[in-house]
Amino acid sequence: MTAQTMEELVSLCKRRGFLFQSNDIYGGIKGLYDYGPMGVEFKNNLKQAWWKSMVYERDDTEGLDASILSSPVVLKHSGHEDTFTDPLVDCRACKSRWRADQLFENDKCPNCKSEDLTEPRPFNLMFKTAIGPVDDGSSFAYLRPETCQQIFTNFKNILDSTSRTVPFGIAQMGKAFRNEITPRNFIFRVREFEQMELEFFVKPGTDDEWHEYWINKRIEWWVNQGIKKENLKKIEVEKNELAHYSKRTVDINYVFPHGEEELEGVANRTDFDLGSHTKNQNDFKITSEVMKNSSSTTKLAVQDLEEKKWYIPYVIEPSAGVDRGVLALLNEAYREENVDKDNKRILLSIKPHLSPIKAAVIPLKKNNEELVNLSKEIKSNLQKLGLGRVVLENSGNIGKNYRRHDEIGTPICLTVDFETLEDKSVTVRDRDTMKQERVSIGNLSEYYKKYFN
Ligand code: ATP
Repeated sequence: MTAQTMEELVSLCKRRGFLFQSNDIYGGIKGLYDYGPMGVEFKNNLKQAWWKSMVYERDDTEGLDASILSSPVVLKHSGHEDTFTDPLVDCRACKSRWRADQLFENDKCPNCKSEDLTEPRPFNLMFKTAIGPVDDGSSFAYLRPETCQQIFTNFKNILDSTSRTVPFGIAQMGKAFRNEITPRNFIFRVREFEQMELEFFVKPGTDDEWHEYWINKRIEWWVNQGIKKENLKKIEVEKNELAHYSKRTVDINYVFPHGEEELEGVANRTDFDLGSHTKNQNDFKITSEVMKNSSSTTKLAVQDLEEKKWYIPYVIEPSAGVDRGVLALLNEAYREENVDKDNKRILLSIKPHLSPIKAAVIPLKKNNEELVNLSKEIKSNLQKLGLGRVVLENSGNIGKNYRRHDEIGTPICLTVDFETLEDKSVTVRDRDTMKQERVSIGNLSEYYKKYFN
């Protein structure tokens, strides 16, 4: 079972500290959200899982963390200054603004149903900010609309500082900003979000095969994070809807509570980006339509040792949204169950490696010195294993603690009771089955580690 409605998720997220509307106490700003105590852990765990699979578990990738403020020259050559637009229409009747391609009933305002709409006009989605103390418009930067451009501009730095040869990839996670015309559906479409992007550089001619490889690899990864395969759809983007750089893009769609939409895009960006940012473009046989006359000082090319000539690699890009991932995984994990005929419980059946809290240690009686001290010691020993956050719950209300930890997806709760002082064992309760068993304190580390294997 997943959540029935977005409202159920929104309510759980606020109640349990996953997500809050940003600038809430001043009325909020549309399209911005803050991750609370549970949300930040969950999001970091998801990003860590991605980094592990993209960097640590592979022998053909490197990582990067580049600046967010981006030079207009870079975004001119990437095509964003000219083409990163959405069609905007205004409703003359109620003054609302909409994306023309997202009007559900053609030619009608979704708000007031008026047909008095302006013609669509292109609206650039990039945020601009002044650089330096004088804001006279002469020196400005963009907040990056995607993380990957700095991967391309660092291509040579990374080649020169590592021993990589094509095929190889550069991974980066971080914030991206888009001035979306109509942010909506909770954290699905926001103005400040995070992406996890890999740019995988390959020899032209091998690109189609690598593209298929990454499409399948990424679906497999999402399944490993806990999304049911039948809720993921491979969607071939129509030729006339491809981004300016793309030869072929396959979207990995997920059935969100509001409907099926893109979770990740896997694009074959060809040699467009490295070609556009390259010095002396005419020296190369570039297949894509690049931005001509780059003022770059560097050629972003590699040498083909067999054919003894330089070429610009093609790039395959799996680009995933962290926030859309959080939303999809929360939705997948959401369950409502009858505990008995009078009581229900909500639980998040999240995979343990993603759970915000890995274990809660609960002394049966609040402020009882012996029980609390022993609980602190157990907590500290589990925390030292380095598998994520472990908490001590000193509120003395076992029922409430269980309910809270079910709702935030803590895989196990450990209760330290008066018997513990005698038999040196604790009661361990499993989140999903609610089964309880006694485990000796000496065996706790091994028992706990098994949850994460
Ligand atoms: P959409 O068609 O939904 O606007 P897109 O095709 O423009 O998305 P990409 O440019 O391919 O998106 O960006 C890669 C990923 O970044 C998307 O798959 C998505 O997960 C995430 N993403 C893009 N825009 C947003 C946004 N406004 N809010 C949250 N995540 C986003």
